[in-house]
Amino acid sequence: MNLKNLSDEALHQQTLDLAREERRLQIEVLHHLRETERRMLFAKRGHSSLLDYCVAELGYTRSAGQRRVDSMRVLKQVPEIEARLSDGSLSLTHLSEAQTFFRKEGIREPEKKREVLEQLVGQSVMQAQRTLMSLTDQPERHIPERVRVVSEELTEVRFVVDQATLAQLEELKALLSHAQPGMSLKDAFKYGLELALAKHRVKPPKQKSLVPAPVPETPSASIPAQVRREVYHRDGGACTYVDTTSGRRCASKYYLELDHIVPRAHGGANTPENLRLRCRTHNRLVAIEVLGHARMARHVPALR
Ligand SMILES: [Zn+2]
Repeated sequence: MNLKNLSDEALHQQTLDLAREERRLQIEVLHHLRETERRMLFAKRGHSSLLDYCVAELGYTRSAGQRRVDSMRVLKQVPEIEARLSDGSLSLTHLSEAQTFFRKEGIREPEKKREVLEQLVGQSVMQAQRTLMSLTDQPERHIPERVRVVSEELTEVRFVVDQATLAQLEELKALLSHAQPGMSLKDAFKYGLELALAKHRVKPPKQKSLVPAPVPETPSASIPAQVRREVYHRDGGACTYVDTTSGRRCASKYYLELDHIVPRAHGGANTPENLRLRCRTHNRLVAIEVLGHARMARHVPALR
């Protein structure tokens, strides 16, 4: 098709039709994402979140994927808003901004969400952001954290802290003023991070003695620290779920849990051989296999 031969009127009409079709497709994608989340297809395919699936498999940037996941969640709770997306009076960006606002303000009731969304109809994104800020008494809560690469080695990280946190940083600088004179806020922050990581990092397992320690025959609720460490380091500190079709390993380092290969209820022991690291998503996938989708859906809204 050579667009150069189209009349102005025809060019305008076709572009209009395409934009409408584009919005229809966007909404279709949201419905598909909802079903993908409901049956946890993203997890079966080796991803620890729907957002990771959007980025890795659908080719969206992280921010475009986030807008779609947020919009899907809004649409699920306030289905009437679909008409606004259809006619273009609200966009995915509006819905995503609103969803972030609801999350930070702790707004859960669909009725309240609908009320807020109606106020954004027909507004530009900037106007909508102003409207949202007029609805909170704690605007500082909504200042986004920024991470910006400034060179190969350096990244700018920007976030807002309250007075109490600033006072803590200043206190640390004062306490260390003899040992480390002229400490900057960044140095104080780094020092605090190193201490926190030293405390929370999973320690390597102790060298095994030649005589192995007896492992209790009957499974107990608590897994010995030595076993936890061994499993953690053996599995590389990451989720071990592998999608058998694609061979993709999840490898998430977030929300890690120890999963019993043979469930404890079936006599599975607390031994390293019977344990593996799984992220929460993939632990849930196992629970669905064992308990069934319907039973799990009673506790997990995303599965409905
Ligand atoms: Zn996982």
